[in-house]
Amino acid sequence: MGNLNFTSYTYQLNNGAHIPAIGLGTWQSTDNNTREAVKYALQHGYRHIDTALNYGNERQVGEGIRASGVPREQIWLTTKLDNHWHHRAREGLESSLKDLGVDYIDLFLVHFPCSTDPEDRTKHLKDWDFVKTWQDMQSLLETGKVKTIGVSNFQVSHLEKLLSDPSCKVVPAVNQIELHPHNPSPKLLEYCKSKGIHCTAYSCLGGHTASAINAHTSLMEDPTVLQIAKKEGKTPAQIVLMWGLQRGTSVIPKSVTPARIDSNYQLDGWCLTDEQMEDLNGIRTRTKVVGDSWMPIRVFVGDDE
Ligand code: NDP
Repeated sequence: MGNLNFTSYTYQLNNGAHIPAIGLGTWQSTDNNTREAVKYALQHGYRHIDTALNYGNERQVGEGIRASGVPREQIWLTTKLDNHWHHRAREGLESSLKDLGVDYIDLFLVHFPCSTDPEDRTKHLKDWDFVKTWQDMQSLLETGKVKTIGVSNFQVSHLEKLLSDPSCKVVPAVNQIELHPHNPSPKLLEYCKSKGIHCTAYSCLGGHTASAINAHTSLMEDPTVLQIAKKEGKTPAQIVLMWGLQRGTSVIPKSVTPARIDSNYQLDGWCLTDEQMEDLNGIRTRTKVVGDSWMPIRVFVGDDE
C-alpha cells in the first residue's frame, strides 16, 4: 500500500456514501470533556464523530459540533440505537436527533444484536429480535433523517441470520466491532468484506485502561507495537491506528486530551511496510475490551478471537 493521506481518505460504503477513515470516539467522555474534545477535534481536522444514546453524551456532542463552527454537512455523525429501544427505533432516532440538535444522522447503528426488555433489563424482549429491529431501521431510511444504516457487535451468525431473512432488503453498510492487534477478528472481518459490509474498528487503541492515570493500555505497551513505533519515530497509538487503516477499516480513537487528539490524527504521508503489518498480525496476545455479561443474552460467540 502506498502512502495515503488518511485524514482526507474515505471508504465508500455499499450505498455509495463515503465514511471518513478517522473519527473521534466519545464513549466514557464525560460532560464538559465531551463538548471540548468534539470541538477541538473538529477544529483540528476531524470530520467524523462517533457517539451513542447509551453513552449519555449526545447533547454534549451536539454542543461540541455547534461550538466548532464546522458546518454540519461537512461532518459524518454516527450514533446508535440502544438495546432497550429495539422495538422503538423511530423514537430512539428522534431522541438522538433532539439531543444532538441535528436534522439527520449520517450513520445509525443497531448497537448490539440484543433486544433488551426496557421493563426488566435482565431479560430479552419477548417475541422480538434484531431481525425485527432491522425492519424498522430500514423504514427509517424513508424519513430522510438517517442517511445510512448499519449494525454493531454483530458476529457472523447474527449477520447470516439477518441477511438470510426475507425481510432484509438493505444489507448493513457498516458493522462497528472491536478491532485492534489484541483482538484482530480476521474471520469476522473477512466475512463482512465478502458481503460488502465495511467495518469500523472500535477500541482501536485497545480501549479504556483501568489505570488511574490512564496513560497507557497494555496494547500501547506491546513489544511489537513499541518496537515498530521506535523504529518509525511514531507513537504506539499511531502504529495501531495505521494498522487498522491499512486493513481497510475506519478507526475511531477516543481521547479527551488535545495532544492525543492531534497525534492520533497524524496519519498522513507514511505507512507500515508489509513486513510490519505481518509482525502486527502475528501478535498472539488477546484482550477483549467490551464484554456481554451485562446483557440478557450472550452476543460474543468467539468470532472475534
Ligand atoms: P480507545 O481504544 O479509543 O482508547 C481510548 C483510551 O485511550 C482513553 O483512555 C484515552 O485516554 C486513551 N488514549 C487516546 N489516545 C491515546 C494515545 N495517543 N496514547 C495513549 N492513550 C491514548 O477506546 P474506546 O473503547 O473508547 O473505543 C473508541 C470508540 O469506539 C469509543 O469511544 C466509542 O465511540 C466506540 N466504541 C463503540 C462500541 C460499540 O459497542 N459499538 C464499544 C466501545 C467503543 P484520554 O481520553 O484520557 O486521552
